[in-house]
Amino acid sequence: MAVLRSEPDVAVIGAGAAGIGAARRLGEAGSVSVLVLEARDRVGGRVHTIAPAGFPLDRGAEWLHSADRNPLSPIAQHHGFSVHRRPPGWTTRLRRSGVSLEAEADWIATREAQGKARREAAAEPVDRPLASLVAPGGRWNQLLDATSSWGNGAELERVSVKDYVRYEDSGVNWRLREGYGRLFEALAEGLPVALDAAVSRVDHSGRAIRLETARGTVTAARVIVTVPTSILAAEALRFDPPLPEKLAAVAGLPLGVDNKLFISLSGQLPGIERDAYLVGSTTSRETMSYQVRPLDRPAIYCFFGGRWAAALEREGEAGMFSFAAGELARLFGNDVRRQIAPLASTAWLHDPWTRGSYSYALSGHADDRALLAAPVDNRLFFAGEACSPNFFSTAHGAYLSGLAAAQAALASLPLRNCSERE
Ligand SMILES: Cc1cc2nc3c(=O)[nH]c(=O)nc-3n(C[C@H](O)[C@H](O)[C@H](O)COP(=O)(O)OP(=O)(O)OC[C@H]3O[C@@H](n4cnc5c(N)ncnc54)[C@H](O)[C@@H]3O)c2cc1C
Repeated sequence: MAVLRSEPDVAVIGAGAAGIGAARRLGEAGSVSVLVLEARDRVGGRVHTIAPAGFPLDRGAEWLHSADRNPLSPIAQHHGFSVHRRPPGWTTRLRRSGVSLEAEADWIATREAQGKARREAAAEPVDRPLASLVAPGGRWNQLLDATSSWGNGAELERVSVKDYVRYEDSGVNWRLREGYGRLFEALAEGLPVALDAAVSRVDHSGRAIRLETARGTVTAARVIVTVPTSILAAEALRFDPPLPEKLAAVAGLPLGVDNKLFISLSGQLPGIERDAYLVGSTTSRETMSYQVRPLDRPAIYCFFGGRWAAALEREGEAGMFSFAAGELARLFGNDVRRQIAPLASTAWLHDPWTRGSYSYALSGHADDRALLAAPVDNRLFFAGEACSPNFFSTAHGAYLSGLAAAQAALASLPLRNCSERE
């Protein structure tokens, strides 16, 4: 691997959605030199498409959430991606899980009541965890917890009400047929990205900022840090002088855990239409959400989160598949086992460059997102999904935070005069 000899105006640490957004914005400005330093041997970070069975599978982000407000929707169209607009049907998945329509209506009413209670509680002066709003012994408490582990990556008891309510969900969710990861690969084309260049130390004690990377030292006038909060919290990336206010902020914004297991499916599941959702159990918090024949593909995508997903990750793909096969056999009979086989799985907690899936705020820590996003000395800038005030935990939130950090970095640089450009 070639040693890096580079002195860009702006160094961007991380080539995920935020880093790609930042680098594109800096590139558009035309007046500054840029280098993106990425630890992995690929771009995209937590947006990554693979195709082990000939069709694309998104290991991380799949959905263009709040798609009607998501800046990546028109960008994807502009780049020739096919945007699939069929709504996911998450609300009505219980009817395919052995539960009556009346029971499903009761679940939907409970969810709506929780939503109202959360909005009201968020308006109170003191923050509290989502779990404090759940009635003890309620019929759907386990499923509410499972749903939180899918949406937040963590159980209700861990998640801040104020932060939860700040997320802006327009209710419109689209997919890209080619895969979300492929979009970010396209957006990164032509950008100056150095791969296998993990940054271990940012020395901002002098006039130029020195970055120690796996491929040598890089100096830059400005730095945009886009690594996950888990990397900052573990000090896998260190600052000199240290930044205790950033360490305090990331301690309040841990990454939850969500994983995916992809299963091949021959034929149909009895009585289940294509591209339908169901849940493995309505009475256990340790259960998976299943997307059956998504985009008419011969597959089931299984999604699971929280503490239990972390434990299952340690059992590996065989353990994940055994659990999913058991849930599907309970719902559709033992014969279903002959229709399914494992295709691929994720282990985001054990991924050294992510160490989790997406951020949530602990109770009392909703304002930590703004603390994390605040620049230091107008020379170090911070971006990434955890910095987004309203679209945290998403790819478009990360992308927008990258654009904002790039804009702030550009504004901080002295204007170049024409003679310098010539
Ligand atoms: C299972 C799963 C499902 C998801 N589903 C969705 C979804 O449907 N829709 C949605 O919008 N979002 C979804 N997300 C969330 C979304 O993927 C993330 O919020 C978003 O991609 C984060 O982007 P980022 O740029 O902030 O961070 P990252 O993508 O993590 O990018 C940071 C980059 O920094 C690199 N890095 C780390 N440390 C160093 C270092 N020391 N030096 C150099 N580089 C370093 C990493 O390798 C990485 O490439 C999902 C995530 C997961 C895990």
